[in-house]
Amino acid sequence: MSKRALIFGICGQDGVYLARLLRDQGYEVHGTSRDKEMANTSGLQRMGVLGDVTIHSAALLDFRSVLQVIGDVRPDEIYNLAGQSSVGLSFAQPVETFEGIILGTLNILECLRFLKLPARFYNATSGEVFGNTETPADETTPFRPRSPYGVAKSTAFWTVANYRESYGIFACSGILFNHESPLRPARFVTQKIVRGAVDIADKLTDRLTLGNIDVARDWGWAPDYVDAMARILKQDEPDDFVVATGTSTTLTEFVSTVFDYLGLDWKAHVESAPELMRPTDIRVSVGNPAKAKAKLGWAAEVKMPQIVHRLVDAELERRQSKCVTQAAR
Ligand code: NDP
Repeated sequence: MSKRALIFGICGQDGVYLARLLRDQGYEVHGTSRDKEMANTSGLQRMGVLGDVTIHSAALLDFRSVLQVIGDVRPDEIYNLAGQSSVGLSFAQPVETFEGIILGTLNILECLRFLKLPARFYNATSGEVFGNTETPADETTPFRPRSPYGVAKSTAFWTVANYRESYGIFACSGILFNHESPLRPARFVTQKIVRGAVDIADKLTDRLTLGNIDVARDWGWAPDYVDAMARILKQDEPDDFVVATGTSTTLTEFVSTVFDYLGLDWKAHVESAPELMRPTDIRVSVGNPAKAKAKLGWAAEVKMPQIVHRLVDAELERRQSKCVTQAAR
C-alpha cells in the first residue's frame, strides 16, 4: 500500500514542489489550504500535480479543523509548511505571525499526542532563527533571531524538540535558509528584483526601488530543499537539520547578476529607499549543511548564479506565454 502524506500549506511554493516529489515517489498526497474553495492552486496546476492531490480546508489556529483533517487522512507523514512566511510582513503583523507559527505548530503536535497517531512530523523552521551568522550556522549555533518571524520560528523549533523528547513523537525541524523558485510571490525581494528588471528591459518602467541591498543571504533552489524535507522524515531517528548551500551572496550581487543577464546596468536603474528598510535586519545569513550531507546524503544542486538565471528565464517565459494566450483570444 502506498504511503499517505498530509502537507499543511500545499498551495505555497514549497507545498507545490513537495507534493510533486512525494507523488513521484508513489505517495497518496493530501494537503490543506485555509479555504479550499478559495485556494490559489495555480502553482499546483503549473507543476502538473493539481489532479493528483486531495485538498482539504484546515485552519492551523483552529484545533478542531486540524484534528479533523489529521483524523480523516490518518497520514504516515505530516509536513507543516503553512503560515506567515514573510519576514518583512512579520514586523507589521507580529501577533498574527506569532499565533500562526507557534500555535499552528502546537496544534498539530497536540493532535498527534491526542490521537496517538504514529505519523512522522516535519516542521518548517528557518535560518532566520540564527540572526547574523559571521560563520556558517549549524545545528549547534545559538539562536539570536532579529525579527518577529525569527522569534516565532525559534519558539516553534523548541516546541517540536520538546514534544519529541516528552512524548516520543517522531517530530523534526528543518532549519532551511532562503530558497527560491518561479513560484515565489512578487512580494519577496528576489521576485521583486527579477520582475522589476524584466519590466525595465521591456521599457515598462525605468526605476527599481529596494530597501537595504548590502545584506547577504544563502540562496538555494526550492525543489532541492523539499527533497531534504522528505529525506529528514526517512531517517531511523527523528532529528533536526540545517538545509543551506553553505555560501552567501549579497543582495547587490543578486541585483547585478539579474541586470547583467538582461544586458542592463543595474546602477542606472536601482535606488534604495529608507522607508523600505526593516527595523532590524540580518546582515549576513549563511548555513552549514555538513550534517545534512553526512546523514541525509543531501547537497544543494542548484546554486548562484544559476538560480538567478533560472528565475529570469522563467519570468521571460511566463510573460511570453501570457502574450501568446492574449493574442489567441
Ligand atoms: P508560502 O508563503 O509560499 O506558503 C505558505 C502557505 O501557508 C500559503 O500558501 C498559505 O496557504 C498559508 N498561509 C499563508 N499565510 C498564512 C497565515 N498567516 N496563516 C496561516 N496560513 C498561512 O511559503 P513557502 O512555501 O515559501 O514556505 C513554506 C514554509 O517554509 C513556511 O513556513 C516558511 O516560513 C518556511 N520557510 C521558507 C523559506 C523560503 O525561503 N521559502 C525559508 C525558510 C523557511 P493557503 O492560503 O492556501 O491557506
